[in-house]
Amino acid sequence: MIRPTSPFGELPSEADVSTLLRRLFPICRSITGEGVRKTLSILSEYESLTIHEVPSGTAAYDWQVPDEWNICDAYIADLSGRRLIDFRANNLHVVSYSMPIDTTLTFGELDRHLHSLPAQPDAIPYRTTYYKDNWGFAVTQRQRDAFDPQASYRVVIDATKAPGSLTYGERLLHSGSGPEYLISTYSCHPSLANDNLSGVVLWTLLLSRMARRALRNRYRFVIIPETIGSAIYLSRNETAMTGVSGGFVLTCVAGPGPYAYKSSFSGGSLVDRATRKALADALVDWRAFPFDAAGSDERNYSAPFFRIPTGTISKSKYYEYDEYHTSLDDLDFISARDLLSTLALYESAIEILEQEQPLYSQMPYCEPMLGKRDLYPHLGGAERSAGHVPPAAQLDAIRWIMHLADGTETPLSMAVRSGLPHATVRQAVDTLVSAGLIVRGHPGPKPTSLQNPRA
Ligand code: ZN
Repeated sequence: MIRPTSPFGELPSEADVSTLLRRLFPICRSITGEGVRKTLSILSEYESLTIHEVPSGTAAYDWQVPDEWNICDAYIADLSGRRLIDFRANNLHVVSYSMPIDTTLTFGELDRHLHSLPAQPDAIPYRTTYYKDNWGFAVTQRQRDAFDPQASYRVVIDATKAPGSLTYGERLLHSGSGPEYLISTYSCHPSLANDNLSGVVLWTLLLSRMARRALRNRYRFVIIPETIGSAIYLSRNETAMTGVSGGFVLTCVAGPGPYAYKSSFSGGSLVDRATRKALADALVDWRAFPFDAAGSDERNYSAPFFRIPTGTISKSKYYEYDEYHTSLDDLDFISARDLLSTLALYESAIEILEQEQPLYSQMPYCEPMLGKRDLYPHLGGAERSAGHVPPAAQLDAIRWIMHLADGTETPLSMAVRSGLPHATVRQAVDTLVSAGLIVRGHPGPKPTSLQNPRA
């Protein structure tokens, strides 16, 4: 199977990625609370983040920051004190945002608060009750069937739900002068690996690698709780966000299933075209998903007021695998290797965005004489060239670029029209810029007299 490579250079080691995944996986995250703070604190060891705390009750358009939820312990025990369901064994056992409780119930009373999946008898489902005061336990169907319907059980959820704040992180890479892009992920899922610890880790690696590069574009890295977090982020950064040209939501990037690309709402934005070209050039199999109003934070980012075209490259896309939102989406389900391959695909798409400037020929009257610039095989008709003269694909790219460089075309459009890999085109662009035959981004000192073209 072909492994994507990154234009940003060597990828991190699988061992380092696995270490970070293992540190973060056990933390009980939710849309607020200490689990999120601890997660962002660990990520800050890799790359500095600005952490924001938004007080409970803060309004964001049609939403309001809820009270903060924290949990210490929870269990269902028999009357001898033996724990049958234990939050410490798996934090998915407690419905996220459950109200505190400490009581004894008949099984009939308890059963109304149990959630299980009959079709997946060994899976604990992921359940939440963010905006309704309630409590519950998620259990495997086998655990549920093992309860004695005649017995009573001790039920304890040692949690607090009280005014506090919602925590999110961001980092702006704003040294460039090009358009701005959003790179967003969500931090609210407890011990679930592909959705979305994998996205959190890829986001961190991407930020860390891009922070060390010279960038032409500007990038806004955001890590928020899903849905409420993007609403809050948009409301607090409304003016800035109306100027964002496009973006990605990083989620489900390390599963064993196929690569997928979920288009932005427009389907034909630059982000979409760049990503499709990156996937095509990587020679991997991938599935195309059109925009869908159900999904992640792209729903908010591309709401009518903002309309930021936001795409998602996945490996085992959400909704498309049986383990999704269950305890089976664990560290055994994903791999560091797959996470790194998806990272390489994102970096390939971002490199295309970095190169996206119109190109202007400085020899627009006819094909330039490549031979005198040492850019052409010295033996006319020879298929392959020797020395530092470009090989055949480079020569092909040079011809296409010189033909198309009228200021309406970019490396991406040229790569698509020529059928050449984007990497081949951008290498040839570098060669031609060095040779003074094209300029990037502005018309340049193009000669105005047909009688006296610049050599
Ligand atoms: Zn999810």
